[in-house]
Amino acid sequence: MKPKVAIFDLTDCEGCEVQIVNSKFIDRVLGGVEFVHFRLGQRVNRWDNFDVAFIEGAVITSHELELVKKIREHSKLVIALGSCACFGGIAAITNFMDREEAKKYVYGENADKIETLYIKPLPEIIKVDFMIRGCPIVPEDFERVVSDLFAGRIPREHTRPVCMDCKSKGNPCQLLKGVACAGPVAYGGCGAPCPSAGVPCDGCRGPLEDPQTTAELELLKKIASKDDIIRLFRKFAPMAPIFKEIGGGKL
Ligand code: SF4
Ligand code: SF4
Ligand code: SF4
Repeated sequence: MKPKVAIFDLTDCEGCEVQIVNSKFIDRVLGGVEFVHFRLGQRVNRWDNFDVAFIEGAVITSHELELVKKIREHSKLVIALGSCACFGGIAAITNFMDREEAKKYVYGENADKIETLYIKPLPEIIKVDFMIRGCPIVPEDFERVVSDLFAGRIPREHTRPVCMDCKSKGNPCQLLKGVACAGPVAYGGCGAPCPSAGVPCDGCRGPLEDPQTTAELELLKKIASKDDIIRLFRKFAPMAPIFKEIGGGKL
């Protein structure tokens, strides 16, 4: 019997799912699995027990909170897909603001009709077996994790910072130009597309395990204001470990 796979999306931009749909790898996977639930990719979906469920997006409403608990009950493995799921994503910037003010700013007189919870990373709500990081994810990570899972292997974590990807591309360093960059503490494996395009890394993949945060902050304080440093770590993975403290002003 083919493995039953589901991809769910919560509050997000669906960019990570688009990365999957655009991946050539998905064509190779299609014949080998049954996509039971994949709203973006197919018309007919149903509930079942899933071998693997991917969850994209942040849990912002009580409906989504109940949904992820139900998905967990129905799934052997749950994978958090993208930084919204792994670390709260862009929407979690509101955790650092007056939420009611933020809602009024966005929704005006309809603000009272909009429900927004304090946004937690998915692994703080339900048990998550693996995370595929990034805003958006890089298709190679999805391919590697799926290939490993279906081969019965435990997917490996990246252990090098974005700087390693960046240096291998021969990019000039943003820090040496006096621009704040999160690369030294950010979880690598993305290929450093941002510094390769001439802009700093915003750490969208969250932190490495055991990053050299003290050294990074000492360096950043010499070239950037406190507010700029806070904004750098509060963008795409604001509820990630360490980034959450820096984004909250603990420098
Ligand atoms: S992680 Fe980024 S690309 Fe993926 S769904 Fe969230 S906002 Fe979109
Ligand atoms: S530009 Fe950023 S990612 Fe690249 S080497 Fe410098 S600090 Fe690291
Ligand atoms: S360079 Fe940084 S911000 Fe850009 S994709 Fe990689 S981790 Fe994300």
